[in-house]
Amino acid sequence: MIGAGGVGTVVAHKIAEHPEIFSELVIASRTKSKCDYIAETVRKKTDFKIETEKVDADNVPELTALLQKHKPFLVINVALPYQDLHIMDACLEAGVNYMDTANYEPLDEAKYQYGWQWAYQDKFKEKGLTALLGCGFDPGVTSVFTAYAAKHHFDEIEYLDIVDCNAGDHGKAFATNFNPEINIREITQKGKYYENGKWIETEPHEIHKPLNYPRIGAKESYLIYHEELESLVKNFPTIKRARFWMTFGQEYLTHLRVIQNIGMAGIEPVMYEGHEIVPIRFLKAVLPNPGDLGENYKGWTSIGCRIKGKKDGHEKTYYIFNNCSHEVAFKETGTQGVSYTTGVPAMIGAMMICSGIWSGAGVFNVEEFNPDPFMDELNKNGLKWEEEINGDLEL
Ligand code: NDP
Repeated sequence: MIGAGGVGTVVAHKIAEHPEIFSELVIASRTKSKCDYIAETVRKKTDFKIETEKVDADNVPELTALLQKHKPFLVINVALPYQDLHIMDACLEAGVNYMDTANYEPLDEAKYQYGWQWAYQDKFKEKGLTALLGCGFDPGVTSVFTAYAAKHHFDEIEYLDIVDCNAGDHGKAFATNFNPEINIREITQKGKYYENGKWIETEPHEIHKPLNYPRIGAKESYLIYHEELESLVKNFPTIKRARFWMTFGQEYLTHLRVIQNIGMAGIEPVMYEGHEIVPIRFLKAVLPNPGDLGENYKGWTSIGCRIKGKKDGHEKTYYIFNNCSHEVAFKETGTQGVSYTTGVPAMIGAMMICSGIWSGAGVFNVEEFNPDPFMDELNKNGLKWEEEINGDLEL
């Protein structure tokens, strides 16, 4: 596993619960002490074999040598999206399967698209290796939910709305739930959705409406672009419209607006006292560490897919979702719900590949595989899902 942040912590805890699948875990990251800390906390609960290493994943020869030393069956990339291509290169070089939870992003351009990673298709095919892209919650579970709906509930999916609500409260004036740099880059970009074969761009947060989330209530939800829309409309071509909605509180949006207006969300380097600094990276250094938010985090996340389409000639609606408690996640792994909802599916994706249930040579998005075994494991590993048939989708 590469990366030792909030998501990596959950993946390590969850992998150690499955010695029947995984024999050993090596945690490698830029700061080795963080790997050691995760290993120590897992060792308090089990005697699962964990080793730790220091690696700069952007250094392909260094990472290749590390992979050749440990000869893993699979690399779980839970570092940052900037590292994706470098890690894929090292996996090809060392002959190791690959998976991640977020699509590649170049450092100097906040653009979300699978093109860069899909371009590795032939290389992974030629080597007989599997690369699994986007196996967190969204992307990840939302894509598996869509595949499950297509397999069991619809002849044709026509309208897909992915709804992501974090109704938790961490008690801080402003904090992001995962890496601040990646998070702020994602939500300050223009909105975009798919309709009738075209992508329609909106101003950031231009389209919004209150949506009701199960056991949470109404929350203002904002249309933003999210990477799984790109692969889902490709893999389910009957989709006429696909959108992604995320809830934000007013306080959060006000902070975000100020951060943008004063230039602190900038990704271009500026000179400061003779040093080049990237504003958003400096901001990350002063914001709360998402991995430390768990202790006082209360409330729920609720993420799911609201789908409309046809079954046996009739209109049908289907809502499938998971509600996850920040408090329960913290009790189990010492992290908050957003790390938990990402790390559990990453472990399940690893389980699918390591057990050979999901296999194939090439680059795959999760919805291309059989959703059923993954859905069973979600229920067994702390992310129970629920469904509502022919209810009001509000969308
Ligand atoms: P963190 O910032 O907490 O952790 C990232 C880790 O990656 C850190 O340990 C960091 O090291 C390490 N890292 C960064 N650069 C390098 C490098 N060059 N070489 C080796 N290690 C490196 O992030 P999170 O745990 O919150 O998120 C991890 C990933 O999960 C991100 O890619 C994020 O986009 C994705 N994610 C996906 C979601 C989904 O649902 N699909 C939801 C939430 C997150 P250091 O400690 O030295 O900084």
